[in-house]
Order: sequence, then C-alpha cells, then structure tokens
Amino acid sequence: MKRLQGKVAIVTASTQGIGFAIAERFALEGASVVISSRRQKNVDAAVEKLRSKGLEVMGVVCHVSNLQQRKELIDKTVQRYGNIDIVVSNAAVNPTVDNILDMKETVLDKLWEINVKASVLLLQAAASYLKKGSSVIFISSIAGYNPEQGLAMYGVTKTALFGLTKALASEMSPDTRVNCIAPGFVPTNFADFLVRDELLRKSLEEKTLLKRLGKAEDMAAAAAFLASDDSSYITGETIVVAGGTQSRL
Ligand code: NAP
Repeated sequence: MKRLQGKVAIVTASTQGIGFAIAERFALEGASVVISSRRQKNVDAAVEKLRSKGLEVMGVVCHVSNLQQRKELIDKTVQRYGNIDIVVSNAAVNPTVDNILDMKETVLDKLWEINVKASVLLLQAAASYLKKGSSVIFISSIAGYNPEQGLAMYGVTKTALFGLTKALASEMSPDTRVNCIAPGFVPTNFADFLVRDELLRKSLEEKTLLKRLGKAEDMAAAAAFLASDDSSYITGETIVVAGGTQSRL
C-alpha cells in the first residue's frame, strides 16, 4: 500500500528501534522521511540502510532537547521537501529505576524535558508548516496507564502525553489530527534492561493476551494508519498496541 505517497514525515529518534521501523514503514508507503537522532554516525547508517532499499529519506542530527537542532530539523525538512505532513514525536529517556520519592531533581528534569517538553517545543517549531490534513503522533507507553515500579516516573511522563494528545488535538483542529500510540514491551535497546532477564521477559509475555512481546513493526503499522487518510476521522485518541496487556476499559 502507498497510503503516504507525496507526504513528508519527520520521525524523531528514528535511527533504531521503534522510530526506525516507523520511518521505514512510512517510506515504504511512499512518504519522504526525515530520519534523526543525536549521533551523526547513527543518522548516516540509518539513512544508508533505507536508501539502499530505494527509499526516499534524508538525515538530520537532532537531540530533541537542543533548540538549535530542533530548528535545523524543521528548516532542513522544509528546504528539501517544502512542507511537513507528519510529525512523529518518538524520543524518550528512562535514566533510572529509582522510586519517585528517591529521584534526583536533575533526573526529574531530564524526564520531563525529553519525554514531554521537547515534544511541545518541536511542534511549536513545526506548527506553521503543518498543512491541512496533517498528522501528529506521540509515542507514549503502556507504562502511561500502569506506571509500575522501575518505570514509575517515566510512566507518569507518558501519562502526560495522553493529556497532551487531547489538548493539542483540540488546539490544532481542524487542519491537523493529533493521536498517540501506547506500545507494550518491545525488545529494543531501550527495553533491554527488562527483557534480557529471562524470567522478567516471560512475565511480560504472560501479561499479554497474545503471549508475546511487541515488535517495532507492530508499532510502525499503527503509526502508518494514524498518519494516513485511513484514520481521517480519528483525532485526540490513543491506540494501545500491547497485545492485550491490561491498560484501560
Ligand atoms: P531504542 O530502540 O533504544 O532507540 C532509541 C532511539 O532514540 C535511537 O535512535 C537513539 O539514537 C535515539 N535517541 C535517544 N535519545 C535521543 C534524544 N534525546 N534525541 C533524539 N534521539 C534520541 O528505543 P525504542 O524502544 O525504539 O523507544 C522509542 C520510543 O518508544 C520511546 O518513546 C519509548 O518510550 C517508547 N516505548 C518503548 C517501549 C519498548 O518496550 N521498547 C515500550 C513503550 C514505549 P541516538 O543514540 O543516535 O540518539
């Protein structure tokens, strides 16, 4: 399917894992995709990998909490492709497994700065280029519904994205739809500390109804749906892609 033909997409933190899978899926569906992350060598490698498959991508280094790099991400996208149709805000950190009451203020700041504030600032920079029919997607987490120990404050920042989705869907309507994906556990580098422990991995699989962890491609499929006109009457919503893990009624 080429549901994204002619569209221009920015995906943050897209040199590996879920972001990379989303970028690849968008490009396979016909979009021109701007890959980004903090490290030039990762950006170059991801761009090379996708170009070798004949896909239309460009790369820009962007640490999402760096003002200048956010500006460059937007400016270079517009210089090359003229406008922006899709923004996927995917970057996040979980720097500690400390309990919330033990967390250092610097760590709290970093969690909010990258997981929530940078998404808002990126959209502020992108907003004037988002055309009628454009789509914004936040990548939250199942931990936004169940902020369990080890992921607690991270989970709370992901809960905030559910609210941000609702608020911005209203503020950016009717031209731009704003939706959110709450992935379950996917064995990427990010989740390595959870899934490398065989017992923990098994217990995470058991929590799903489908008895398996997620794949980055499962998230990419949901993102492609939300980015495309197939979801043209959906805004302000969160899709849980977690194999039936308990989230909400
Ligand atoms: P991942 O495989 O570890 O990939 C992380 C990517 O983010 C890399 O491309 C990395 O490249 C980039 N990155 C890290 N910090 C960045 C920053 N400050 N600015 C820009 N790019 C940055 O992670 P993932 O599992 O795909 O996670 C992606 C998203 O899914 C996150 O929002 C995460 O919270 C969410 N999520 C993941 C899971 C899971 O189980 N994996 C579950 C629920 C939600 P550089 O090192 O070059 O910057």
